[in-house]
Amino acid sequence: MKLRYICHGEAPIPKWVYDRIREGGDIVFAMLGLKDGIPAVMLVAEKRVEFYEPESLLPVDVNSWKHGVVWALIKNEGISSIGRERPDLGRVERWYSKVVRLERHIGRLERLGLDDRNLWREAKRTKSKMYRYLKGYSQWLANKIVRKALKHKSKVVIDRALEESWKELLEEGLTKREAKIHMASVRRFIKILETQLRWHGIPYEFKRLPSRLCPNCEIEMDELPRRRMKCPNCGLEEDRDKIPILWALKLVS
Ligand SMILES: [Zn+2]
Repeated sequence: MKLRYICHGEAPIPKWVYDRIREGGDIVFAMLGLKDGIPAVMLVAEKRVEFYEPESLLPVDVNSWKHGVVWALIKNEGISSIGRERPDLGRVERWYSKVVRLERHIGRLERLGLDDRNLWREAKRTKSKMYRYLKGYSQWLANKIVRKALKHKSKVVIDRALEESWKELLEEGLTKREAKIHMASVRRFIKILETQLRWHGIPYEFKRLPSRLCPNCEIEMDELPRRRMKCPNCGLEEDRDKIPILWALKLVS
């Protein structure tokens, strides 16, 4: 398993090197080149990875940020903990409405033949702040899941229902632009998660986990208000986000 890292303008030996060595890796390759016109060093760390024998199961159901990433720790065939992770959506919303407000203002000025560079810059700054925050959050969350998996020697089962999540957001009445923000860096989260799982030798698999089918009877469940689901056959009633976790329990154990 190899990891790549590009550094420019950092201390002689970046923290990244120490971290990878502490994890049992070796720095096997370095190349000096230019990145965006700036001298940069690319480092490659390598490690022989053996996947451990799992002692628990950690299903991770990846949705849009609006509904969050739902995980559960399954031990001895029972759910020992469950959680939903999402970024501070209030903050994201505030940045977003600021951008919309600024753009409206810019539009009004444009119609009058006026142009305000400062407003443009402010809108651009706010937008990148918002995307940077979501990017940082996706990295943080991947780390959190990996630490949990290592601690409990879990096998991770990832359900990436990205297209469904996208459709769901539009059905809930979000504009495409709003939906895009709620999906920003979700793909990146999955990519970082997979890379880190491999680097640490954590067994994992991608699997579709149904969220509308009853895990007992395998038939379509009825949707109740507030994202609750109920099976018309056996009467099982659960939070919609818990259904994939119950499926993971059934499919993988
Ligand atoms: Zn049922």
